[in-house]
Amino acid sequence: MSRIYLSPPDLSGGERARLDEALSSGWIAPLGPQLDAFEAEICARVGMPYAVGLSSGTAALHLALEVLGVGRGDEVWVSTLTFAATANAVAYTGATPVFLDSEETSWNLDPRLLADALATAARDGHLPKALIAVDLYGQCADLEPIARACERYGVPLIEDAAEALGATYRGQSAGSFGTLSILSFNGNKIITTSGGGMLLARDRAHADRARFLSTQAREPARHYEHKVIGYNYRLSNLLAAVGRAQLADLDRRVEARRAINARYCRELGDLPGWTFMPEASYGRSTFWLTCATIDPAHARAGRDAVLDRLAGQDIEGRPVWKPLHLQPVFRDCRAIGGEVSERLFDHGICLPSGSSLTPDEQSRVIEAVRTA
Ligand SMILES: *Cc1c(COP(=O)(O)O)cnc(C)c1O
Repeated sequence: MSRIYLSPPDLSGGERARLDEALSSGWIAPLGPQLDAFEAEICARVGMPYAVGLSSGTAALHLALEVLGVGRGDEVWVSTLTFAATANAVAYTGATPVFLDSEETSWNLDPRLLADALATAARDGHLPKALIAVDLYGQCADLEPIARACERYGVPLIEDAAEALGATYRGQSAGSFGTLSILSFNGNKIITTSGGGMLLARDRAHADRARFLSTQAREPARHYEHKVIGYNYRLSNLLAAVGRAQLADLDRRVEARRAINARYCRELGDLPGWTFMPEASYGRSTFWLTCATIDPAHARAGRDAVLDRLAGQDIEGRPVWKPLHLQPVFRDCRAIGGEVSERLFDHGICLPSGSSLTPDEQSRVIEAVRTA
């Protein structure tokens, strides 16, 4: 029996042909036609006019903040229930993250909490320079009221859709709601380039600026002329070739993860104390990861006992993200609310959900959980 991972890379079969195409064209240089095509295909899929392929989702977040002029002395508000990368990018700019709690219905940023906090911040005269709203575990945040609140106070919205490519909100694609939004093609995401990311922009000027900063901020001159600090953040043409083959397979991957979620819900939903992460009525989740909470007052085995059992069967499980306001590295940062995300972390579990997970492997996971 081989180890079962949470969300391993899944080959579509088309990668080798695309890589051959890239290699035989001679474009080993970082930029090239595969990258241009990958950006255009992502734009078409997501419904954003401009895209810049980058070396990671974290780099995309960093550049999103840079093009908005975020820097020292600024506050950036961030969903607290997320991966550290979301707030690390804020720290790179010298700005301070402020963490906002989740709502129960989607586990994502609470739009009412946000609206109230923005009203207070406006009254006190220190609004955040930007908001990063995360689409968690394949499910969009409640983006309409979030975008409306941001618009009302002139706060740019960055949508962190790293975990949600392929999801929709009221029929519109994840990644199309912010002034800027970001995707990740890390190895564990729904499509992967082994490592990579993308910045999506509504304004051409933002995309142009990000492209400029991502290639060492070289001024248009014959010699190497630099007026600002740049980065080496561009996605390589070879990796973009892999990304194109993965993207062409996205719909199958979404259906595979949804089917896995449906089976877990069907075959584990009767366990006392178990509540699966709800799918909000406003959209369609990819269920990038299937998550549940285990109420220790009713369950026969608590979350950690279940994780131990999975580990004993060589199955990778994880707790839900630890809220960033609880992370030692962000100890000194302000939090607005936090009880909902803290409870989700205390009792939440993520189950293996990869699009290549076979029915037999799913049975092994279900069996291990039920035995626990
Ligand atoms: C994976 C992830 C990122 C970072 O993407 P990388 O490509 O790994 O840098 C950012 N935000 C969230 C919510 C993620 O899950």
